[in-house]
Amino acid sequence: MAGLYIHIPFCKQACSYCNFHFSTRLNGVDPMVEALTQEIRLRHSFLDQSPLESIYFGGGTPSVLTDRQLLKILNTIDQYFEVSEQAEITLEANPDDLTTEKLAALRDSPVNRLSIGIQSFRDQDLQLMNRVHSARQAHLCIESARKANFENLTIDLIYGIPDLSEQAWKNNLDFVRHYSIKHFSSYALTVEPKTLLAHQIATRKISAVTDERMAGHFRLLIEFAREHNFLHYEISNFAKRGFTAIHNSNYWRQKKYLGIGPSAHSFNRDSRSWNISNNAKYLKAISENNLPLTVEELTAEQKYNEYVMTGLRTMWGCDRHYIRNLDVSFWEYFRKEIEIFLKREWIREDLGIFTLTDEGKLFADHIASELFLVE
Ligand code: SF4
Repeated sequence: MAGLYIHIPFCKQACSYCNFHFSTRLNGVDPMVEALTQEIRLRHSFLDQSPLESIYFGGGTPSVLTDRQLLKILNTIDQYFEVSEQAEITLEANPDDLTTEKLAALRDSPVNRLSIGIQSFRDQDLQLMNRVHSARQAHLCIESARKANFENLTIDLIYGIPDLSEQAWKNNLDFVRHYSIKHFSSYALTVEPKTLLAHQIATRKISAVTDERMAGHFRLLIEFAREHNFLHYEISNFAKRGFTAIHNSNYWRQKKYLGIGPSAHSFNRDSRSWNISNNAKYLKAISENNLPLTVEELTAEQKYNEYVMTGLRTMWGCDRHYIRNLDVSFWEYFRKEIEIFLKREWIREDLGIFTLTDEGKLFADHIASELFLVE
């Protein structure tokens, strides 16, 4: 089984914190759809005819696609891949795009899971982050999605927003319970270089959030998840039983996937590759039947590092046997380096599986970097 990712590199406006690849020139969507279908034709053999267990439309903002554009891509996928009957087919959507008509059309399409970029239910947070939608639209789109019988919904929520008090963060989380959402993802507002947010903080228009405040929000998140029986299955992902994301879980569990579109990444266990992050150059290359790709063959050390980085962030953790199978010396190194984190109770071990404790989750990146092998 394998996964297919389609990157839709367009957004109506730029959120202040975003460093993903996208363009706001929406008149370029049609030629891009044409190029995406052509890339599918050129690269379908990458997955060695493995049936697709998941298809994920990410971006950018895939909900800017018209019904016709979406169906064109889905029909091409159907032509070149065997799609499993139970395949999870997710489309990322922004609240302002999810009109009743749009939801009805999506319901009639093969899409069976919506990932909605809510981010906050408060207008002041949405305005601070330059999101295109309002709090009212955030509420409305969930209600409308329900009416359209989308049971499999996930929403994104951001914490660590300047001026988001602990109480306001709790209130945002409480809407997950209120709407009986079965899956949600929650990310810290990170300040990426060369973004508007970084500039606003550097010029003191907005104050940076302290690490303590960020950690406070993260602890509230963990408490909320526990209290309401969400499985905290990846550091930023929470699901009721039976609703963990198939596509994203496969990224974290080293399954193969093919990424189509500008900036999209692919992985086949032995190599990683990624497309150029430039719409015009991508379109030109594909129109000439060239793949605008950079390929990196993974060394055993890189495979170990990726496994540690992704595995530790999940409830499946890092498995002694997997590391030993990569190389016995890697296991010896891991065992020695992890000792200090076991003593601090940031990591726990259970039958050779190493996972982060709640406290350890606050230091996930630091712990992983200490366990990395340097070539
Ligand atoms: S909608 Fe998503 S991809 Fe587009 S600018 Fe905002 S955060 Fe970035």
